[in-house]
Amino acid sequence: MVDSIQKEIESRKTFAIISHPDAGKTTITEQLLLFGGAIRSAGTVKGKKSGKFATSDWMEIEKQRGISVTSSVMQFDFDHYRINILDTPGHQDFSEDTYRTLMAVDSAVMVIDSAKGIEPQTMKLFKVCRMRGIPIFTFINKLDRPGRDPMDLISELEEVLEIGAYPMNWPIGMGKELVGNVDRYNHRIEQYRYEDEADRFIPLTDKNELLGDHAVKESTYFDQAMEEINLLDEAGNEFDQEAIAKGELTPVFFGSALANFGVENFLSTFVDFAPSPQPRKTEEGNLVNPTDEKFSGFIFKIQANMNKAHRDRIAFVRICSGSFEKGMNVYLTRTGKSIKLNNSTQFMADSQEIVSHAVSGDIIGLYDTGNYQIGDTITMGDKNLHFESMPQFTPELFMRVSAKNVMKQKHFHKGVEQLVQEGAIQLYKSWHAGDYMLGAVGQLQFEVFEHRMNNEYNSEIIMEPMGKKMARWIKPEDADEKLASNRNMLVRDRYDNPVFLFENEFALRWFTDKNPDVELFELI
Ligand code: GDP
Repeated sequence: MVDSIQKEIESRKTFAIISHPDAGKTTITEQLLLFGGAIRSAGTVKGKKSGKFATSDWMEIEKQRGISVTSSVMQFDFDHYRINILDTPGHQDFSEDTYRTLMAVDSAVMVIDSAKGIEPQTMKLFKVCRMRGIPIFTFINKLDRPGRDPMDLISELEEVLEIGAYPMNWPIGMGKELVGNVDRYNHRIEQYRYEDEADRFIPLTDKNELLGDHAVKESTYFDQAMEEINLLDEAGNEFDQEAIAKGELTPVFFGSALANFGVENFLSTFVDFAPSPQPRKTEEGNLVNPTDEKFSGFIFKIQANMNKAHRDRIAFVRICSGSFEKGMNVYLTRTGKSIKLNNSTQFMADSQEIVSHAVSGDIIGLYDTGNYQIGDTITMGDKNLHFESMPQFTPELFMRVSAKNVMKQKHFHKGVEQLVQEGAIQLYKSWHAGDYMLGAVGQLQFEVFEHRMNNEYNSEIIMEPMGKKMARWIKPEDADEKLASNRNMLVRDRYDNPVFLFENEFALRWFTDKNPDVELFELI
C-alpha cells in the first residue's frame, strides 16, 4: 500500500452520535460542523426549530413530527483529520436503522442530558455498541442548566451500563453557578465565560496561584471540583487507551452544546483517541484490513428520494479497504454482477458533492436504480467476499396491507418492494395466497410507510392491524400447515423462509410443548 494512502486512511474518524431524543444530539452535531467549517450558521442541521432546510430531515414526516427518522452522513475536516459523522434516529421505533448505522462506524459518541442521566434509548443503543465492541465516548450535555451531581452521573454510567468511565474534564459548578471545566487531560481550566479568546483556557494551578481575575477564582465550586478530581485520581479508573479501544472504558466529557462550552475541547481530544478505520469481519470468518489494496465496502443504508426533484435512491457504502475512484468497476458479490461506479456522491453538512476519490472509513453514496440491497458487499477483489450480515430485528407488530385502488397495483408493488429493500419495514406473505403483511419494531414505522407510499409512490393503502405477534423462524422442512392454527399463523418472510407468528407467549409455549422437535429461531 502506498504510504500516502495509508496516511489518508489513518486520518479518518468515522463515528455515530447516539442519544435519547432531546439530549442534544442535533445541537452538538451542529457545533461540530461549525468547528469543521462545514456549515456557517447554527440551525442548518435540523429544521425543527429554525424552520430552515435540514440535512438530516429529508423526509416531510420528520418535520411534521420533529424527530429525526433517518440517519444522515456528514463529512468535514478538523485538525488534519477527515471526520465522518453518522447521525442516527433517536426514536426507538427506528432502532433497526440505528443498528445498521452502527455497523458502519468505528466509534460512537453518546450524548446524555445531565439532568436526566441514562435514559431508555441510551441504554438500548449503548448495548449494541457493547455487543459490537465499539469504543464509546460520552458527552454529558446541558451543563448550563441545573443538572444532577456529576459524581452521581458517573456512578450511574458505570452501574447501569456496566462500563468503566474516565472523566476527561470535571465541571466547576452547574447551571447558574457554572464557571468552567477542569480539563484533566490537558491540565488546564476551560472557562465558561470569557471576554478574550486568550482567556478561554487558563493553566490549572492551586486556587491562590490562578492567574488573572477570573470567575473560577471566585467560585466556591472550584475547591469542590478539585476535591472530587482528587478522589477520581485516587479511587477512579485509570486512563487506559486499550480499554477505550475495546469499548470497556468510556472517556466522559462535560459541556453544553447549546452554549458551545466544552464541545471543541471534546472534539480535539476525541480525534486523538477515537480509532481510525478498523478491520471488518466477513461471513467467511476473515478480516478485511482497511489498508488492503483492493477496494471493498458494504451497503448499510438505502435512502430513497432524498432529492424530491430527482426521485433518486442512494445506497450508502462504508468503504472497508482500498480506495474508491470514480468510474471504477466493482463486483456486487450477491449477484456476481459487475457495476461501474460512475454516479457517486459524498455528503457535506448542507450539500452533496460528486466524489471522485475516497478511502477506507469514508462513506459514499451510490445512485441506485434497484441494484443494491442492504448488507450487499461490493469489491474489486475476491468475488466471494461477503461482509458480516446486517442485524435484523424480530418484528413485534404486524399489519395486513393492500392497495386501496386495485387499478394501482403496480405503484403499490413498486412502493412495497423499494421500501422493503431500503429496510424501512419488513415484508411477510401469507402461506398460500401470498397476501402482504408488514412487520415492524415500532408503530411509527407503519406511519412512515403509509406516508411514503402515499407521497412517493402515489399509492393509497389499507392497513389492518394484526396486533402484536411473536415471530419465530422454523426450518423449511418443518413448514407443515397442519401445525398452524389461528394462534400460530404460518407465513413466509421476504426470502420465502417459513415463520410462525404466535399470538402470545402462551400460544408459543403450548406449541413448543406439543411439538418439541420443531426448532424455533429468533432474530435479534
Ligand atoms: P436531539 O433530539 O438529541 O437531537 O436534541 P436537540 O439537539 O434537538 O436538543 C433538544 C433540546 O435541548 C433543544 O431545545 C435544544 O436547544 C436543547 N439543548 C441542547 N443542548 C443544550 C444545552 O447544552 N443546554 C440547554 N440548556 N439546552 C440544550
